[in-house]
Formats: sequence, C-alpha cells, structure tokens
Amino acid sequence: MLRKQGLYAILGVIGLFIVLHLALPPEQHSFRITATTMLGGIAFLLMTTSVILSTRLEIFETLFGGLDRMYQVHRTAGVFTAIFALTHFFGVPKALPEGTDPLLHTMVPSGPFGMLGLIFLVIGLFVALNRKIAYSRWRPTHKVMGLVYFLIIGHFMSAPTLFFEKFSASGFLLMAAALIGLVALFYSVFGMNKRTALSFTIEAVNPLERATEIVLKPTGKMLEFTPGQFAFVEIQGKDWDEPHPFTISSAPGEDRLRFTIKVLGDWTRKVREELQVGGEVLVRGPYGRFDTMGAGKKQIWLAGGIGLTPFLSKIRAMEPGDPREIHLVYAAREAGEAIFLEELQQRAAELGNVTIVPLFSEEGNFARVDMMKQKLPDPLNSYDYFMCGPKPMIDGLAADLAKEGVDKTKIHTEAFEFR
Ligand SMILES: Cc1cc2nc3c(=O)[nH]c(=O)nc-3n(C[C@H](O)[C@H](O)[C@H](O)COP(=O)(O)OP(=O)(O)OC[C@H]3O[C@@H](n4cnc5c(N)ncnc54)[C@H](O)[C@@H]3O)c2cc1C
Repeated sequence: MLRKQGLYAILGVIGLFIVLHLALPPEQHSFRITATTMLGGIAFLLMTTSVILSTRLEIFETLFGGLDRMYQVHRTAGVFTAIFALTHFFGVPKALPEGTDPLLHTMVPSGPFGMLGLIFLVIGLFVALNRKIAYSRWRPTHKVMGLVYFLIIGHFMSAPTLFFEKFSASGFLLMAAALIGLVALFYSVFGMNKRTALSFTIEAVNPLERATEIVLKPTGKMLEFTPGQFAFVEIQGKDWDEPHPFTISSAPGEDRLRFTIKVLGDWTRKVREELQVGGEVLVRGPYGRFDTMGAGKKQIWLAGGIGLTPFLSKIRAMEPGDPREIHLVYAAREAGEAIFLEELQQRAAELGNVTIVPLFSEEGNFARVDMMKQKLPDPLNSYDYFMCGPKPMIDGLAADLAKEGVDKTKIHTEAFEFR
C-alpha cells in the first residue's frame, strides 16, 4: 500500500517553495511572471522527485511503502512535471521585461534550454507511458530523461532577467533541489542504485502449468528477506538481457531460493524453454513492503493467478500457533491453473488458522465482492485485505470493497508492475 509519509514530504517541499516564492518574490515582477515562474518551479521539484526515487534507496521504500509504490509515484510525478511545465510554457510572457537589454538576452541560453527540455520531456513521457513498447527497448530510452533534467537546470539557472536577478529564497530552494537531484541522477545512471548481488547456481527448473519454478542454490551467502518481498533476477550468459523482478516464493530459512515465474513474454518463455541447470544467476534485493504482520487479526489474502507468490512464501514460512485468522482466496481460471493448491491445502490443514478458498472462473466463481460475501464467515468490513494479481482485478475489488464500507486503510495491494 502507498504510505502517506513520502507524499507528505513531497507536498511539504512544494508548499514551502510556493510560500517562499509568493511571500518573498524574486523581483517586483508582474503577478503573471511570479505565477508562471512558480509553475515552472513546481515542475522542476516534481521532476527532481522522480529522479530521487529512481535511486531505489531503502529509506524511500519505507516512506512510500515499497519499490513498486516508489515507481508509481515516480511515474505520476513525471506526468505532473509535464503538466506544470506546459502551463509554465504557455503562461510565461514571451515579450522581454521592460528594461532588459535584448543583446544580453540573446546571449542567454535559457529559452532554447527550456524549449528543448520541454520537447524531450513530452516525447519521453509518451514513450514512458506507452505499454506497447517492450520493456527491454523502453528502458534505455528512458535514460534520456537524465538529459532533460540537465536542460531544465540550465533553463532556470540561466534565466537571470526573470528569476535569479537577485537571488531569491525560492531560487535557493530550487538550486538545493538541483544539487540533490544531480547527485541522485549520477547515482542511478552509473548503476549505484542496484543492491549488492548474491550469486546462485540453478539447481532445478520445474515446469508448472503456464509457469516455471526455478530453484537456486547459494554459492556463498544466502539472501535474507521477509516473506512477500521480491528481488531482481539476473541470469548470467549471452542474450539474457536486463534484470527482471520476481517475488521470492520460498520461505526465509530454507537453504534454497525459489521463484515462480509465469510465462508472459519473451524473457519468461525463454526461462521455461531454455534455462539450464548449473547456470549462474545473480539476485539483487530484497525489495518491497508487502507485510501482513502489522495488520488486524482477521485477514483476507487475495491472490489472482501468479499473484499467489507473496502468499506462498508467507504460508511456507508460517509457524503453527499464529494468532491470525487467514482466508486465502485463490482466484484462477480453472483448477489445473491453480499451481501449488495441494501444497496450500496441506499447509492449511497443518496450521489450523488458514483456510483456502479457491475460486475458478470457469466454474462461474469469480473474485468478486458478492462471491466473497458468500464464502467468508464474517462481514466484509471485519477483515484486513491483502491483494496481489492482475491490476484491473485488484483495482476493481479494492473499489468494490470500499463501496461495501471496508476502510481504505485496511486494503493493501501489491503491484506486479513498475510502469
Ligand atoms: C514487484 C514485482 C514482483 C513480481 N513478482 C512476480 C512473480 O512472483 N512471478 C511472476 O511470474 N511475475 C512477477 N512479476 C512480473 C514479472 O516481472 C514480469 O512478468 C516479467 O518481468 C515479464 O517479462 P517478459 O519479458 O517475459 O514479459 P513482457 O511481455 O516483456 O513484459 C510483461 C510486463 O512485465 C514488465 N516487465 C518486463 N520486463 C521487465 C523488467 N526487466 N523489469 C520490470 N518489469 C518488466 C513489462 O513492463 C510488462 O508490463 C513481478 C513484477 C514486479 C514489479
């Protein structure tokens, strides 16, 4: 779930900028100039937020509720950057302020920097939001956004007649943000945002129904994680391209690390068809904050298809005597696709506090609120909800549960996507 602390921090900095900009304006400019430079400043702070979040630092995971949430905020901040930058561009007066030396002005690259930055920003955003572009092709192009950041810094730092004539309080705040943003940019662009890699050997590649389980044996130190966390998997060897994120489906304390990988695109199909036992895999992590321990005693865990993996790890790790009452609603198309169902039912029988509620859409049982009402012993608003699965299903269910009176703070979701 998205934690509010991170959002409050962003809004706090933007609020401070607005107050400084309006209360201590840089010059005796017209209201229009003050307002439009303010919009530009907000755009820059939002872009700095996006850049800072790409560092993947653990502190931000705590503030925002996990890396998947950080990337959602990163994307939303990018969209709002473009909106504010465009309103700044269209609102800012094109005529030079009175008394400006036109010759001096032509020597200042602020305008071209801003224009180029805006063009690349809008193109970059269209590319970033276009899901038809394959991730492997999209990722390198997204790095061009670093250039946009430089251009925007160049734009406001070289706009003396409008903004920095007399260094203003809000201008100093933007410069401080630029400094932090540049450090963050270098940190990410030079790969320092990757956590230390642990090396594993592939011990088994187990084909499952439309999925593959890979079993990894550590060559040195074992990865420490809590159930529900994920890691980036980097298969070593030619043509395996970029790292892919997967939730760890084994339990902490096991001497092997297991990932369960649904066949979705080229890379995951290649895992199923070509991955060889004995090869080397680097695993970086752990990431994520999909934690069920701090919530209420009655919990619904809702897994849609491969969204089972975080719950699989949790159930594998659970000890008898756990005081919670847990109902794992497992939605799949049909029984054959509900991988690990037998193991789950066996664990549930051993543990005593877990019930498994399979819902197969081919039998007319959908993961819908009315169906859950029928299958669960208590009213819907008496539970905390943890959901992982296809985004439309999770978003729809979260909205329906809220309509049924379930408090939004009791609904926790894990997104299996960053874009
Ligand atoms: C936090 C998290 C946990 C996940 N856990 C699991 C899991 O336990 N089991 C499982 O089967 N799947 C999991 N996924 C999804 C998995 O990462 C993608 O299905 C897989 O990377 C698709 O690769 P592909 O090239 O075969 O498919 P494609 O068709 O190329 O991509 C399908 C989707 O995956 C995204 N994607 C592709 N490559 C990457 C990448 N390198 N990094 C990030 N996203 C990428 C794309 O944006 C697209 O939305 C998880 C994803 C995230 C973000």
